[in-house]
Amino acid sequence: METFQQHYDAMTRAIARFTPYVDMGLVDKAVEYAAEKHKDQKRRDGSPYIIHPLAVAEIVAEIGLDTDAILGALLHDCIEDTDSTYEEIASRFGQTVAELVEGVTKLTRVEYSTLEEQQVENLRKMFMAMSKDIRVVLIKICDRLHNTRTMEYQSPEKQVSKSRETMDIYAPLAHRLGMQKIKWELEDTSLRYLDPEGYNEIMAYLELHKQEADAFMEHIQARITERLTSVGIHCRINGRVKHVYSIYRKMKAQNKTIDELYDLYAFRVIVDSIPDCYNVLGHIHEMFNLVPGRFKDYISTPKPNMYQSLHTTVIGKEGIPFEVQIRTQEMHETAEYGVAAHWKYKQGIETGNEKEFEWIRRLLEDQQETDAEDYIHTLKIDMFDDEVFVFTPKGKVISLPAGSTPIDFAYAIHSGVGNTMIGAKVNNRIASYDLKLKNGDIVEILTSKTAKGPSRDWLNICQSNQARSKIKQWFKKEKREENIIRGKASFEGELRRMNVSASLLQDEELLPVLLRKLSFDSMDDMYAAIGYGGLTAVKAIGKIREDLLKASRTAVKEPDKLPEAAPASKPSRHKDSGVVVQDIDSCMIKFSRCCTPVPGDDIVGFITKGYGVSIHRRDCPNAKGAADPAQAGRWVPVRWSSADGQPFATTLEVHAQDRDGLLLDIAAALTSLQLRIREITGRDLPDARCQFTVTFEVRDLSQLAAVSNRIRAIPDVYSVRRGHS
Ligand code: MN
Repeated sequence: METFQQHYDAMTRAIARFTPYVDMGLVDKAVEYAAEKHKDQKRRDGSPYIIHPLAVAEIVAEIGLDTDAILGALLHDCIEDTDSTYEEIASRFGQTVAELVEGVTKLTRVEYSTLEEQQVENLRKMFMAMSKDIRVVLIKICDRLHNTRTMEYQSPEKQVSKSRETMDIYAPLAHRLGMQKIKWELEDTSLRYLDPEGYNEIMAYLELHKQEADAFMEHIQARITERLTSVGIHCRINGRVKHVYSIYRKMKAQNKTIDELYDLYAFRVIVDSIPDCYNVLGHIHEMFNLVPGRFKDYISTPKPNMYQSLHTTVIGKEGIPFEVQIRTQEMHETAEYGVAAHWKYKQGIETGNEKEFEWIRRLLEDQQETDAEDYIHTLKIDMFDDEVFVFTPKGKVISLPAGSTPIDFAYAIHSGVGNTMIGAKVNNRIASYDLKLKNGDIVEILTSKTAKGPSRDWLNICQSNQARSKIKQWFKKEKREENIIRGKASFEGELRRMNVSASLLQDEELLPVLLRKLSFDSMDDMYAAIGYGGLTAVKAIGKIREDLLKASRTAVKEPDKLPEAAPASKPSRHKDSGVVVQDIDSCMIKFSRCCTPVPGDDIVGFITKGYGVSIHRRDCPNAKGAADPAQAGRWVPVRWSSADGQPFATTLEVHAQDRDGLLLDIAAALTSLQLRIREITGRDLPDARCQFTVTFEVRDLSQLAAVSNRIRAIPDVYSVRRGHS
C-alpha cells in the first residue's frame, strides 16, 4: 500500500527539480487542507485518498506548471468529494486557485447517459474550460494520467470505458497541447485495457528482442556521438523503441505483423542551436542511407501544436531502418511538455491574464492554416489536426475536415438538409456559407422546403468529399430530368409513328408488363437511359411493340378508359409546339396555366418532372426563380419558333361597370376578330362592378393586343389585363 509520505516526498522532489520557484509554504498549507478534507476517504486499493492529489500535483510539477496550478492539483477533488467550497478555497488560497479547482470540478461533474454523449459533453466542457484557463485542462489531464496509472484497481467495465474515454479525448487533447510524453503514456495504458491481446503481443515481442534492440541502439548512439564529437558538435543522444500504441496503430493501419513494420526505433539528438540541427542532419545523411520521402523539417514549419524538430529515416549497415529526430533543448521541452513548457519560461511573471492565453487559443483554433498537406503524408496520426469538431444545436458532435464550412456541416447531417439549406447560424449568429468552422462552434442550418437546391459555387466552397459528392449527385439528378425529357420526347415520337397513344403507358396493368420486358424499374429510368444515349427509342419500342399494338386495339374499343387531360396541361396538340427549347432538340412542351403565354411574349422554360418543359411568361410570378442562379439548372432559355399560325389559348381579365349586354359586347369583339372563344366566366364585384375572365385562342401577341384594344373600347370597361392565376 502506498503511503502519504512516499507521495509527499515524490511531489517535493518533482517541485525541487522542475519548479523550484514554487512557494512551498503555500504547497504545504494546501497539502494539510486537502489531507484534512479527505481524511476519511480511501482509494480503491485501500491507500489514503490524499495520495491521489499528491500524485497529480507531482505530475503538474513535472510538466513545469506554476504554484497556482500545483495548489489546484492538490485541491482538485475537494469541492467534488468533500464539504469544501469555492469560497473557502478562495479565502485561503486566492481566487485563481479556487477557479482552477472549480473548473476541474465542472469537468468531473457532468452527468452522462450514454458513453457517446459522455465523451461529447466532456469534449465540449473541456474546450470551453480551455478558453478560460488552460491550466484547468492541464490539471485534468494530469488527474486522468494518475487515474490511468492506477486503473488496475477499477472494475473491468470501468477499465474499458475509462480507457476508451482516455483514448478518445484525453490522449488527443494531450497531443494537441503538445504534451507528447503524457500522450504516449495515456495511449499505451489505455491500449492495455482496450486490446490486452494486441498490447501483450507487442510487449512480448519487444521483451523478446530487448537485448538485440539495446545492443543496436547503443551501437548507433555510439557511432553518431563519435562522429558529431569529432566535428565538434556538442549533443545528447538517446535511442528508444517507439511507444506501444504507435506500433500497434501502424500494424493495424498497414495490416502488418510487428516484424514487418518499417521503423521501430527512434533516436533523438539534442543540440545547442538551430544551425547545429541542420549540421547534424547532414552528418546523419552521410553516415547512413537515406530512406526517401521521410525527411520532415518541422523547424522551418512547426506543427500546429508548436512541435519543432528535423525528422529523417535512415538505414545502417544492419539493414534496420530508424528515425532520427534532431532538435534544440528548447524545442525538446516544448515537445515533451507542449503548452506547459510556456510556464517554464514565464516563471515569476504573473500568468493567467487574457492576453497570455491568446496564443494558446490560436493554437487550438487555427490548426488548418499550417502544413495540412504534411498530415496527409504522416499516416493520419493526429486525430485532431485535420479535423474540426462542431456541435448541432442539440449538442451532438459532428466531426468535419479542417476548413469545413456550414455547407459541409449541412451535408454531414443529411443530404436533404444540404439540398434544402437556405442559410446557417453559427453560435446563434447568421453566418456566410464560406465561414470556416472552428472547434466548439454550434452550427444550425436553416432549411426551407422551397429551397432551390445547391448552387455550383458550393463545390468550390465546401471542404469535405462527402459534401462535394452529394452536391454533384444533386446536379446529376437534375441533369437526369433533362435526360428524361429528351428520352421521353424521342420515345413518344416513336409511339406516334406507330399510331399508339402515349396514354397507354398509364395503364396500371400494362405498365408493369412493359417495364419487365424493357428491364427498367420505371419509365423515367428508361427515358433517362434514352435521353443519355444508352438506349435508342426504336430499340426500346421493339421490345414491347406487340404489347403496345394489342393494348392499343383494346383501348380504341374502350375510349372511356383513357384518362382525359386538362386542356391547358396537355402538351400542344400540334406536332410542332411553336416553342424551341435551347439545347434540347425535341421535348414535351406545355404552356403554363398561370400566365398563358402567346407568341411574342417574352418567355422562359421550366424543366418539370414528367411533363417536359413548361413555358411561362417572363413576368409571371411563378417564373421569378428563373433569375435565381441557384435554379439555373432547371430554367432553360426558350424562344418562339417561326410563327406557323397555330392558335394559343390565353386569358384576359376584364373589369367593368356592370350593365345589361356587356357580356354580349365582349363576345362580339372577339368574334369580330374571328377568334375562337373557349370560356367566359363572370362574377360580381362590390359597387356594381364586375369581372369577366375570357379565355380564347390567338395566334400571337399582336393579335392579342388588337383584342385587348377592342375590348377596352367597349363602353363601361375600365381595365383589361393579361390573366394570372
Ligand atoms: Mn482526481
